[in-house]
Amino acid sequence: MNVAVIGKGGREHAIVKMLANSKSVNNIYAIPGNAGMREICEVMYRVNEDDFDAIAGICIEKQVDWVVIGDAGPLSLGLADFLIDEYGLTVFGPRKKEARMETSKSFTKNLLKKYNIPTADFKVFESYDEAKKYIESAVPPYVIKKDGLSEGKGVVIVENTEEGLKALEQLAVLSDEDDVMEPLLIEEYLQGEEFSLMVMVNEDYTHTFEVIAQDHKSAFGRGEGPNTGGMGAYAPVTHISEAVRLEAIEKIIRPTAEAMVKEGLSYFGVLYLGAMITDDGVKVLEYNARFGDPEAQVLLSMIESDFACILEKVQRKEPLSIEWKDGYTVGVMLATEGYPYEYKRGIGIAFTDEIMDRSFISGLAQTEEGDYISSGGRIMLVTGTGKTIEEALKAAYSSVEEIQFDKKEIFYRTDIGHRALISK
Ligand code: ATP
Repeated sequence: MNVAVIGKGGREHAIVKMLANSKSVNNIYAIPGNAGMREICEVMYRVNEDDFDAIAGICIEKQVDWVVIGDAGPLSLGLADFLIDEYGLTVFGPRKKEARMETSKSFTKNLLKKYNIPTADFKVFESYDEAKKYIESAVPPYVIKKDGLSEGKGVVIVENTEEGLKALEQLAVLSDEDDVMEPLLIEEYLQGEEFSLMVMVNEDYTHTFEVIAQDHKSAFGRGEGPNTGGMGAYAPVTHISEAVRLEAIEKIIRPTAEAMVKEGLSYFGVLYLGAMITDDGVKVLEYNARFGDPEAQVLLSMIESDFACILEKVQRKEPLSIEWKDGYTVGVMLATEGYPYEYKRGIGIAFTDEIMDRSFISGLAQTEEGDYISSGGRIMLVTGTGKTIEEALKAAYSSVEEIQFDKKEIFYRTDIGHRALISK
């Protein structure tokens, strides 16, 4: 089969690598793709993810059978709807209506509430004055969230009333009409251990990945620095027990899939569950309508089974048994100085083909001479594997040491996997 992968990040690099190893896949087209994918597929870097006509044109011309959409952006714009409805293509990635599981927190929270699926209590506000009044009398801690996609910048955990009012100022997007604002959620604060699960969903069919990965959000480690898209990940996470994973499947994942079907939603794609283990059981923090990045890079590289076969089995709702590699995988993200705020592009970096084999590119371009230069804040996730977490850490960090770059211009966290070491 011929497959188009939509996206340009490390997660899509991982998907492309998996498909390149699939027996049934003949050609892969990455739209727009990135410099890391050039050796293993055709990269259509001139086509943007929001240029639906151009994407459809490529799919028709190249006789693409499957389209895999990696990122939430094109899903939220309705790329899946367009390719399915206008061209009859098979698209792994939900339609706009189903992608609301990620793009509208109020939509998801109301669905969870209606079907008694465990999640933090919440209220939705569309009146600035009412939100302010609520904050003035609410007892912290609580969490204020924007309803829509906001790249991790739309959530504030509030410890006192002053912070709550400040967060309201910061997050409220007011309309021209007096007092009306884009929806904000105020949620009960959940205390506990956070984890995520990746689920392959086709309507009421679900297959939850058996292996759990943990990402590392803060820029500099141990909660320091701003939150980022993810500075590294490792798997398997052994401090989250199988009992917890099964509880999440029974009490959250299956009921959510059933609830979506009852609401007339026909979800096909990956559903990412962000959850918290509380004293009162596992509760939903959020859903995303795609794989996490960089969890996907780590998890997909641990899959032994043929990825195209996995997709086809999900499409046919057939029982799925994913074969996982033994041992641990650790991924360390290199990022340009200044990320996640202002950062410079065009910073040089050099590494061997062996390093490329163990890496997933997020933000690199190639010069005419073939040299790599940075084109994004996050550059590449370098992975290492081993029988133990210690071995995997050693392998990942010694690969990072082999890469040539200026440490004043490119940084990485040195504590990826620390949680796994502590919990031993
Ligand atoms: P991301 O872009 O990182 O996926 P998001 O903007 O979609 O995030 P959430 O996942 O809902 O927003 O929240 C971000 C983080 O804030 C969570 O990973 C969690 O650490 C914290 N958080 C969110 N809701 C709560 C809550 N109710 N109680 C405690 N912590 C919370």
